Amino acid sequence: ATPTAVMVATGVGANNGVLIKGGDALERAQKVKYVVFDKTGTLTQGKATVTTAKVFTGMDRGEFLTLVASAEASSEHPLGKAILEYARHFHFFDEPLATKDAQNHSKESNFSGWLLDVTEFSALPGRGVQCFVDGRQVLVGNRKLLTESGVTIPTHAENFLVELEESAKTGILVAHDNILIGVLGVADPLKREAAVVIEGLGKMGVRPVMVTGDNWRTARAVAKEVGIQDIRAEVMPAGKADVIRSFQEDGSVVAMVGDGINDSPALAAADVGMAIGAGTDIAIEAADYVLMRNNLEDVITAIDLSRKTFSRIR
Ligand code: ADP
Ligand code: MG
Repeated sequence: ATPTAVMVATGVGANNGVLIKGGDALERAQKVKYVVFDKTGTLTQGKATVTTAKVFTGMDRGEFLTLVASAEASSEHPLGKAILEYARHFHFFDEPLATKDAQNHSKESNFSGWLLDVTEFSALPGRGVQCFVDGRQVLVGNRKLLTESGVTIPTHAENFLVELEESAKTGILVAHDNILIGVLGVADPLKREAAVVIEGLGKMGVRPVMVTGDNWRTARAVAKEVGIQDIRAEVMPAGKADVIRSFQEDGSVVAMVGDGINDSPALAAADVGMAIGAGTDIAIEAADYVLMRNNLEDVITAIDLSRKTFSRIR
């Protein structure tokens, strides 16, 4: 393609909300064989919502939710934010707080005075969070986090987790002083266009793959809904780039689509990194393409544009 053709294509991309960082990136996209999608925030809307909260001990529900929300209060993770939102809503609306009228709720919802004091908070990427409340350890996260800390997961809790995961939800476990006290279920719906885009890629001869830090069962359920057969789950943040490299081993050109800080090493490792414009700045920086409309159809637009630009001269 001539420099002019590249310039024109870059302009066409920009007009469609597909920002391309340079002619090399534009050229590489035509040869893409695999498109590896991050799950959370990329295939899904990234709007996690708590759908269930089950307390296993005698602890009061409000007390349980306040404890979990306090542990997640400093978390940047979408799951942490969803839990905080759910607990806040319960605290201000579901409790019999008759003196508070509706107008006060919104003001008060930005007020964190209802949360407990937390010490020694740490976010454990790919696992969850850990902290102390009143000198007692609180763990909120996945099986890996709890198991590593020596928390036993009783059969009834495990059964409940499996039930959540088979319906595409993420199960979050809560331990207090190393005893499992409850489980939360979080749902994050697929983007509306996701399944159509996966089908479209298949028709173009491109193979879709899903990679996620989430557990295998939830990953399988989501993959089934969206129509992806090839998945890698329970991948630690640093492992996503290795997944990309494994697909590149035979010389295949690999694209990665992601939105999170976790995705940036993989976006950099990919031949074509595509960041969701609504994602984190670090991901956008690591990528060759930025999809400003937050619409997965633009993955197809990007590959099409490259194919059209570079096929004419052959
Ligand atoms: P993804 O690839 O889906 O973005 P992450 O690597 O961010 O996944 O997280 C993987 C898993 O770690 C989550 O599915 C969840 O089980 C657990 N996790 C991570 N952060 C938190 C948190 N703040 N609270 C609870 N669980 C968490
Ligand atoms: Mg993500």
